[in-house]
Amino acid sequence: MNPRLDTVFKATRHLFEVPEGVVYLDGNSLGPLPKASRERVRHVIDDQWSRQLIKGWNDAGWIDLPQKVGDRIAKLVGAPAGSVLATDSTSVNLFKVLSAALGMQAERAVEVSDTATRRVVLSDTGNFPNDLYVAQGLLRALGDGPHGTGYELRTVEPQDVADAIDETVAVLMLTQTDYRTGRLHDMTNLTRRAHAAGVLTIWDLAHSAGAFPVDLEAAGADFAIGCGYKYLNGGPGAPAFIYVRPDHADEARPALVGWMGHEAPFAFDLEYRPAPTTDRMLVGTPPILAMASLDAALDVWDGIDLTDVRERSIELTELFIAEVEARCPELELASPRDPHARGSQVSFRFPDGYAVMQALIAHDVIGDFRAPDIIRFGFTPLYLGPDDVVRAVDVLETILRDRLWDRPEYKRRSKVT
Ligand SMILES: *Cc1c(COP(=O)(O)O)cnc(C)c1O
Repeated sequence: MNPRLDTVFKATRHLFEVPEGVVYLDGNSLGPLPKASRERVRHVIDDQWSRQLIKGWNDAGWIDLPQKVGDRIAKLVGAPAGSVLATDSTSVNLFKVLSAALGMQAERAVEVSDTATRRVVLSDTGNFPNDLYVAQGLLRALGDGPHGTGYELRTVEPQDVADAIDETVAVLMLTQTDYRTGRLHDMTNLTRRAHAAGVLTIWDLAHSAGAFPVDLEAAGADFAIGCGYKYLNGGPGAPAFIYVRPDHADEARPALVGWMGHEAPFAFDLEYRPAPTTDRMLVGTPPILAMASLDAALDVWDGIDLTDVRERSIELTELFIAEVEARCPELELASPRDPHARGSQVSFRFPDGYAVMQALIAHDVIGDFRAPDIIRFGFTPLYLGPDDVVRAVDVLETILRDRLWDRPEYKRRSKVT
C-alpha cells in the first residue's frame, strides 16, 4: 500500500456517514451519505424553499443547477465545461442520446444521398439489460421490424464487439464497465474503430464515473451518460448526467424534449426550438432537493486526483482477491484478474451466492448479488481502507466455513437484490 495514499484517504473518510461497524462494499450501487449533502439539503429546505419560495429559482440559482453540477461532473469524466448536464435518470438520458444519434445518422444519409442505410444499434450481451430495454423501447417507437423503419438492436458477445462494427451500424451503444464482472471495454479503441466505420458512439459510464479516470474528450466519444447515485454518492435516485461532444451540440435532436431544452423556455412559443447548446438535452423541471444533494456530494472530489483513487482501488481489490482466494476456495473469481482490465469492483461466483450475500449483510458486510450466481463487492477508497477489506474477508471466510448462509431466512428473495 502506498503510504501517501493512506494520508489522502484518511481525510476523505470523515466526509461520509457510514454506520459504525459496517463495511460498505456497495458504493457502486448506492454511495453512502456525504455529510455535506445532509447539510445542503437541510439548507435548501430551511433557508431557500421555506423562505424564498418561488424566488429560489433565480435568487438561489436553482435554475442553473443542471449546468453547474454538470460542469463539476465533467471534470471527473474528462469532458470540457458546458458539455455535461446533471438531469433526469441514466435510462432517460440514454433514450435521449440514442434517439439523437439515430437522427444524426439519418440526416447524414440524406445529405449524401446514401441509400445504403445504417439500421443497426450495436451493443453487447454484457450490457446492463436496462440499457437494452431502453433501446428496444425506442426502436419499437421508431417502427422496428420488417414493416417499420427496419431498425435492429444487435447484441454480440463483449469480446466480439470490435469485429461487429461495420457500415450497417448506426450507433455503438456500450457500458464501459460490466455491471456483473467489472470487465472494462477499451473506450478509446472501440470509439476509434467505430468512427472509422462512420458509427456514432454512446458510452454508459454508470460504473466508471468516480471509480477511475475517464477521458471522454481524449477518447472522442460522441455521447455519454452516467449515474449520480453510485460512485458520485448523490443519494438514492440522484439525477444522472449526460454528455454531448461539443461539435454535436447543435446537431443532436433528442426524441424526448421539453421546455427546459427550449431556446427560450419562458417565451412560451407554441413551436419547439432547441437551445443552441447542450441545454437542448434538458426536458422538464429539475428536482432541486436531489440536485442539491448531488451538488454537495461532489464537494468530496475537490482536491482529489482520480489517479490516486485508481491506484488505491487497485491496491484494495488486489488485496481482496488474494485474501479471498487464500481463505475461501469455494468461490470462483468472476472479474478479470488483470486489475487494469476491470473497474473498481470484484465479483465471485457461488451457486448459493444470494444466501451468502444475505448472510454477509446480516453480519454488517454489505455488498450485493447479481443473478444468477454473482456476489459483487465495490471498492471506494474515499471511505474504505485495507482494514475494512481484511475484516470483510474474515466475515466471508466464517460464513462459508461454518455454512452460516445455509438458513431459510437468507434464501428469501427481496424485491431489490
Ligand atoms: C445503474 C445503471 C443504470 C441505472 O439507470 P437508472 O435510470 O438510474 O435506473 C443504467 N445503466 C447502467 C449500466 C447501470 O449500471
